[in-house]
Amino acid sequence: MLRVDNLHFSYGKTEILKSINFNLKARRHMSIIGESGSGKSTLLKLIYGELDANKGQVFWRDTEILGPSHNLVVGYDFMKYVTQEFDLMPFISVEDNIAKHLSRFYPEERLERAHELIKVVELEEFAQTKVKNLSGGQKQRVALARALAKQPEILLLDEPFSHIDNFKKQSLRRSIFNFLKSKNIACIVATHDRNDVLGFADEVLVLHNQTVLRQDTPQQLYQSPKHPKIAAFFEEFNVIDGEIYYAHQLKIVESSNMQGVVKGCYFNGRGWLVELDVNNEMRIVEHSDCLEINSLHYFSY
Ligand code: ADP
Ligand code: MG
Repeated sequence: MLRVDNLHFSYGKTEILKSINFNLKARRHMSIIGESGSGKSTLLKLIYGELDANKGQVFWRDTEILGPSHNLVVGYDFMKYVTQEFDLMPFISVEDNIAKHLSRFYPEERLERAHELIKVVELEEFAQTKVKNLSGGQKQRVALARALAKQPEILLLDEPFSHIDNFKKQSLRRSIFNFLKSKNIACIVATHDRNDVLGFADEVLVLHNQTVLRQDTPQQLYQSPKHPKIAAFFEEFNVIDGEIYYAHQLKIVESSNMQGVVKGCYFNGRGWLVELDVNNEMRIVEHSDCLEINSLHYFSY
């Protein structure tokens, strides 16, 4: 298992992370969420041993992960890390980029394994294409396949689907996460996409104000966000008398002690998000229809 013990880190004098503590059991999937700049990538780099912590320790099983000042070669066999930069070999094919990481296998088995991985990232038609001729999203998929090639025990992914379009993202996400589960590979995914979290994470670490705001299951976080930053990650929401209500938890009604003037109406697929002005405070309510701008409506929860 992974153990992160009282980790502190600054870039120069700027404190980025403080008192970070958490554990992740083998085979479990964790998402790290937090606003842009909250330190998600920095935390992954610390876990990988690419940065030296100011204080604290990281262990995978009994091995302490050491930073560059204690460890000349960054990286361990049991851990792989896919950064946002990919770092592929541009002048050779997709297949060769992946196969190069399968050196401990016999040639035939190597090819078979490379094809299995190419299938996981849905790049069959590009197996022989040189990486330099791929799009950003396709390169990101090669980088994912390559990280899986050595079957690490734990995989660190930094915004793994950020370059991949919505047409492909849903099926690719299922394919990758199911592959990881089937091979018993633990993973930590830094993400700003709630869809990476809701259906796939066993637990979620929320970074806020340089530290861990919460560690919980996606279900608990969604159903009981408690903090506006957590609610905001999932959906449009309101704070009424200190309580958090998602837009779909409020409804337009015939009469109530709460009313507002319609200021905007936005289609969201299931229905409409209606923006109501309540004494200069905005409320957002989900409704089956669009409502007339400037009309007055009651709402309740
Ligand atoms: P996230 O991945 O959550 O967006 P990062 O871990 O990339 O956040 O960055 C956390 C903070 O550290 C940001 O304020 C960022 O500007 C700063 N930062 C990141 N890398 C460096 C660096 N190499 N030198 C100085 N500051 C950095
Ligand atoms: Mg980042």
